[in-house]
Amino acid sequence: MRKPIMAGNWKMHKTVGESVDFVKNLKGNISDVKDCEIVICPVFTALNSVKEAAQGTNISIGAQNMHWEEKGAFTGEISPKMLIDAGCKYVIIGHSERRQYFGETNQTVNKKMVSAFKFRLIPIVCVGETLEEREKNITFDVLGKQIKEGLAGLTGSQSSEVVIAYEPVWAIGTGKTATPAQAQEVHQFVRKLFSEMYGKDAGANVRILYGGSVKPDNVSELMKQTDIDGGLVGGAALEVDSYTKLIKYQG
Ligand code: PEP
Repeated sequence: MRKPIMAGNWKMHKTVGESVDFVKNLKGNISDVKDCEIVICPVFTALNSVKEAAQGTNISIGAQNMHWEEKGAFTGEISPKMLIDAGCKYVIIGHSERRQYFGETNQTVNKKMVSAFKFRLIPIVCVGETLEEREKNITFDVLGKQIKEGLAGLTGSQSSEVVIAYEPVWAIGTGKTATPAQAQEVHQFVRKLFSEMYGKDAGANVRILYGGSVKPDNVSELMKQTDIDGGLVGGAALEVDSYTKLIKYQG
C-alpha cells in the first residue's frame, strides 16, 4: 500500500517568520490527517525553525537541494549531514529549476541521490520533459534517460524508499497542468521502467508524485489515477488554505 505524499516546495519564498507562522496556522487544519504524508520544503535558513514549529505534528521537513559531499570547500553549498542536523527527512533532488538554471545533470542527480541515502535522507528525485521535447514526441526517451542515469545503483531497500516526482517542465508554475490521463500515462511508464530496473515489488511500491500546477480544483482527479501517489506542489503550497485543501484532497 503506497501512502500518498503532498509535498510543498516553497522554492525561494518566505522568511523564517513567515514560514513559522504558516506551520502554526496549518497544523490545526491537518492534525486529523493520517492517510497522507505532509512534507514542507522551505528555504535552508528556515529549516530548523520550521522543524521546531512542526514538533509533535504530522508534518515532515524536506530540503530543496543538497551537495553530495559531507563537508569541504564548496562555498554556498549545504551537505546531507547538515540537512539531517537541521531536522530534514526528505530532500528534493534534480528539480527542473536546478537542472535549468544551475547545471544539474543526471550524473549530479545520481551522486546526490546516493549521498542522500548514505546520510539517511529520503530523496525525492524529479524528472520531466520540456515542452519542446513533448512536441517532438521524445518524452519517454527523455524520462527513460533521466531515470536510468539519475536513479542508477539503488540497493534493494533504497529502491523501496526513494520517491520519484514527475514534473513536466511546461506545467511548472505556468498554470498548465498535464491532464490526468497525460500524467497517468507517464506515471505508468515510470513505474514500469523502475520495475525493470529494480524488480516487480520495487515498481509496485515506489511512490511517484505528480508536479506541475497542482491546485485544489484539479488535485482529486489527478489523485484518482492509479499510478499517481501524491503531489510535489509549488504555488498552491504557499497558502495555508490551498495547501490544506490539497492535503485533504479526498474530502
Ligand atoms: C514545483 O515547484 O515543483 C511545482 C510543480 O510548482 P507549481 O506547483 O507552482 O507548478
